[in-house]
Amino acid sequence: MKKWVYEFHEGNADMRPLLGGKGANLAEMTNLGLPIPNGFTVTTEACTDYYKQGKQISQEIQDQIFAALGVLEQQRGKKFGDESDPLLVSVRSGARASMPGMMDTILNLGLNDVSVEGFARKTGNPRFAYDSYRRFIQMFSDVVMEMSKSFFEGILTELKESRGVKYDTELTADDLKELIGRYKAIYKEKMGAEFPQDPKVQLMEAVKAVFRSWDNPRAIVYRRMNDIPGDWGTAVNVQSMVFGNMGDTSGTGVAFTRNPSTGEKGIFGEYLINAQGEDVVAGIRTPQPITRLAEDLPECYAQFMDIANRLEDHYRDMQDMEFTIQEGNLFFLQTRNGKRTAAAAMKIACDLVDEGRITPEEAVLRIEAKSLDQLLHPTFDAYGLKNGEEIGQALPASPGAAAGKIYFTAEEAKAAHEERGEKVILVRLETSPEDIEGMHASEGILTVRGGMTSHAAVVARGMGTCCVSGCGEIQIDEEAKVFTLGGYTFHEGDEISLDGTTGKIYKGMIPTVDASVSGDFGRIMAWADSFRKLRVRTNADTPADTANAVRLGAEGIGLCRTEHMFFEPERIPKIRKMILSDTAEQREAALAELLPFQKGDFKAMYEALEGRPMTVRYLDPPLHEFVPTDPADIEALAKDMGMTPEEVQQKCDELHEFNPMMGHRGCRLAVTYPEIARMQTRAVMEAAIEVKAEKGYDIVPEIMIPLVGDRKELKFVKDIVVEVAEQVKAEKGSDMQYHIGTMIEIPRAALLAGEIAEEAEFFSFGTNDLTQMTFGFSRDDAGKFLTSYYGAKIYESDPFARLDQSGVGQLIELAAKNGRATRPDIKMGICGEHGGDPSSVAFCHKVGLNYVSCSPFRVPIARLAAAQAAIANR
Ligand code: ADP
Ligand code: MG
Ligand code: MG
Repeated sequence: MKKWVYEFHEGNADMRPLLGGKGANLAEMTNLGLPIPNGFTVTTEACTDYYKQGKQISQEIQDQIFAALGVLEQQRGKKFGDESDPLLVSVRSGARASMPGMMDTILNLGLNDVSVEGFARKTGNPRFAYDSYRRFIQMFSDVVMEMSKSFFEGILTELKESRGVKYDTELTADDLKELIGRYKAIYKEKMGAEFPQDPKVQLMEAVKAVFRSWDNPRAIVYRRMNDIPGDWGTAVNVQSMVFGNMGDTSGTGVAFTRNPSTGEKGIFGEYLINAQGEDVVAGIRTPQPITRLAEDLPECYAQFMDIANRLEDHYRDMQDMEFTIQEGNLFFLQTRNGKRTAAAAMKIACDLVDEGRITPEEAVLRIEAKSLDQLLHPTFDAYGLKNGEEIGQALPASPGAAAGKIYFTAEEAKAAHEERGEKVILVRLETSPEDIEGMHASEGILTVRGGMTSHAAVVARGMGTCCVSGCGEIQIDEEAKVFTLGGYTFHEGDEISLDGTTGKIYKGMIPTVDASVSGDFGRIMAWADSFRKLRVRTNADTPADTANAVRLGAEGIGLCRTEHMFFEPERIPKIRKMILSDTAEQREAALAELLPFQKGDFKAMYEALEGRPMTVRYLDPPLHEFVPTDPADIEALAKDMGMTPEEVQQKCDELHEFNPMMGHRGCRLAVTYPEIARMQTRAVMEAAIEVKAEKGYDIVPEIMIPLVGDRKELKFVKDIVVEVAEQVKAEKGSDMQYHIGTMIEIPRAALLAGEIAEEAEFFSFGTNDLTQMTFGFSRDDAGKFLTSYYGAKIYESDPFARLDQSGVGQLIELAAKNGRATRPDIKMGICGEHGGDPSSVAFCHKVGLNYVSCSPFRVPIARLAAAQAAIANR
């Protein structure tokens, strides 16, 4: 018989895949002898089985759950469902990777109308008993029955108002009893049945709800954003309750062993007296800093600090802990390696190395490559800040600077950003997991309620999005979409700025500037560079981008897109003239006008690179992208070319293609118009020779022919390039070396790479097009239907963001193998968006590519991911 259920003492921290993170750590802490309420874990395999059985929990699993419950009853000396002294439990989800706020916990399970009376008598604390029961009804209805929270919140607020009190804790036992009556009534009204009274039914329904929640839409979005596979499943922990809501010597809290925003060493956290569970993070009352516990309950504080330090020593990492104090007795309910900002991650990793607790390799592995993005996020321009009008200050929940237009709902924030490209600040009373996509679309998040560990704060830090939380001075009306702060009234669409590092709020948009990269960041990156095998280049086509990328560690340019150089106002008329020319002579004349510009660009690029290599890709897009649409432009062009506007219009229309991405583009342009390749070759060679002479850089141009599908096609263009290159060399008396290679971005090229390598000195995998053509998905349209594919679990991630290793990856492996067989010293890299995606970088390492090339801001991510892949594959 398979084991589906583990008591805490039967597990350990290494059993995370089976027990989930929470369960594995509860087991580990139990075995360390820490004060952990007893309990058991239903495995992630049981969750997978639940889905396999068509959302049913098998009899065998149910039997094992009730057997474990029997053991728990013995340990606690209480019976589940007992009318005078009931055993109460919490039902807690816990996946392999922590998914904050994604799945909900139910507390006080086991209470019903009868046992709550016994519980009140037994504890001698009716207020507490009724408070526990009303919380249970609320959580069960929300999590298990999916009733809207607002029904219960509405009733609670109404009752508080009618009693003239502000906080839940001010309600009396009788108030709470009345509340329970009303809760049950609304439950019956909405659900068409009485609130379930049988604790065993309550338990099984709760377990099922946790399993179900693994597949709720928020969880699916979170998984996609964080590369968590859908088949992992979640475990369920059933744990005997301890109570933080028993009075003034009870409470509940969360704490980190180091500051999760800055990484500074020292305890950091919050707690609430006389409260339960989520009260702290839900921002119901404003919590106390953890250090206040030293005054309130000194013995508890000493014990708490002792355990916190032990846990950090044990796990050799910053811990995020949850605890509850029941009448002066401390219990730990959770520990995990704490989420942190990228800056904090850097500092903590460096400090742990300095403290002799981890090695530089471990430090490099500890930083989540994707998170580096945050460090490169902007801060306010100092001058702009001086002139900014500060209108308020609240908690600095997630660092960075942000400026944008105000929106009051996640949906509107998302729409404003995605549809209108606006910079958005999401302003909410407090955020909830439903808001996740809107938070993702926002530059910054401002909440009225909630502490440093509120949902908004935790999620924003995870995303690297600026967040200011708990701004109680704000008077907000979310319905009417208006708030006031600092004497001003703000409506939807008005502008504000937030500083997530100081917590300050400003009126209007303050300009932002890029972050600087040094200190701990520099140390980690230097370690990473010493471990990695892959080289890291950048995709850039302006000297400014190039300089930025070099500052971020780029070792050269892997993709210089030459077409971008043609879009400037002075130049575009010239390329249009070239496109609309009838004869090769006319085209050559137009190209001759473009030559000085293109050559000037290349010179500037070579100078910015200071001797680092550059791969220049020849003209790639379909020509119609350049044609004029504005009547004034058409007229100007007609005049310049001695044609009528109608004739110009007609020629433009002729360029129309039904499927331009598979049309007349890439090397096909050079095949039909060789003079384009001639001009580009002359520009590259003259620029390289001149910069080499002027600056002494050792330049070896790398010329890359795009969209090749056949050896002969490459050979055709290559012959033109060689002819002109040799001609330029002869004219200039230069012996400059150069390399000619190709993109591998058409499946046919990948299949025939062995032949193509006869002509190509290097391959660059253009994984954007290769993905597009392998899937048959249009890059520009796939977003619209991929969402349905995620929902149906056909594909779990966007193949344009994360390389499809099983399909597209096969083509890359095959091409790499066959390319090398033909030309053992062939150089290979990747230049799609994937070059900056950590899992894709790991794949490139595995396949043995020489380099990855990505956008400038992703260069540090690629450097770190490459190091992590090298360490992991040792
Ligand atoms: P999350 O994963 O969202 O943090 P948890 O399962 O950790 O959810 O539960 C949230 C909170 O509920 C805990 O931090 C703790 O305060 C409370 N809680 C959970 N189980 C118990 C328990 N057995 N006794 C008392 N409080 C509990
Ligand atoms: Mg928790
Ligand atoms: Mg391409």
